[in-house]
Amino acid sequence: MKEQKNSSSAMVVFSGGQDSTTCLFWAMKRYDTVIALSFDYGQRHHEELVCAKEICRQYQIEHIIMDMSLLNQLVSNSLTRPDIAVDEDAPEQGTPNSFVDGRNHLFLSYAAIAAKQRGITDIITGVSQSDFSGYPDCRDVFIKSLNVTLNLAMDFPFDLITPLMWRDKKETWALADELGILDLIREKTLTCYNGIRGEGCGHCPACKLRKKGFMEYMALKKNLS
Ligand code: ZN
Repeated sequence: MKEQKNSSSAMVVFSGGQDSTTCLFWAMKRYDTVIALSFDYGQRHHEELVCAKEICRQYQIEHIIMDMSLLNQLVSNSLTRPDIAVDEDAPEQGTPNSFVDGRNHLFLSYAAIAAKQRGITDIITGVSQSDFSGYPDCRDVFIKSLNVTLNLAMDFPFDLITPLMWRDKKETWALADELGILDLIREKTLTCYNGIRGEGCGHCPACKLRKKGFMEYMALKKNLS
């Protein structure tokens, strides 16, 4: 069953993690054709690209992997270099050392160029302001600003769609459950900064956030049943 279909096709920026996988299945309920777009930027947790490929193959989703190794040359931080440890806790000031300058800006701009070639206006990304971990390019104001810029840059009515913008991790787990993909997200996706799929390493910030949200959602579900 398709619901609230905006147009027939959408492109989903897809990393193989919890959030973008949830968005991919959210999109598949709403569009006839969904194309997944992943970026290879020499990320420390390269295993996430393997997860992305496997999910697309299993569900027969067209998958584009774009080379963005340039980003790795530009930015040295804990997500692009294996010799820099990921901060366990958020810093008191500034962005965490897992923040990659310009990542969402570049990814969404390249996604828009690829989407326009196919006549696709709707671009879906799993960014969230509710759980934005101090990343400025996950904020709603940035997405709205970039949307205007992309429309002006290419004279095309792009629509940057953010299904998770106002959901915290607990609510993202709830959405996955609603979409019937709770186990798929638990087992087949990779969010961990140390590159371990599923439950992950358990102590990096991404694992902590994912687990906390899952426990909160399970507690809520138990109370409701
Ligand atoms: Zn981890």
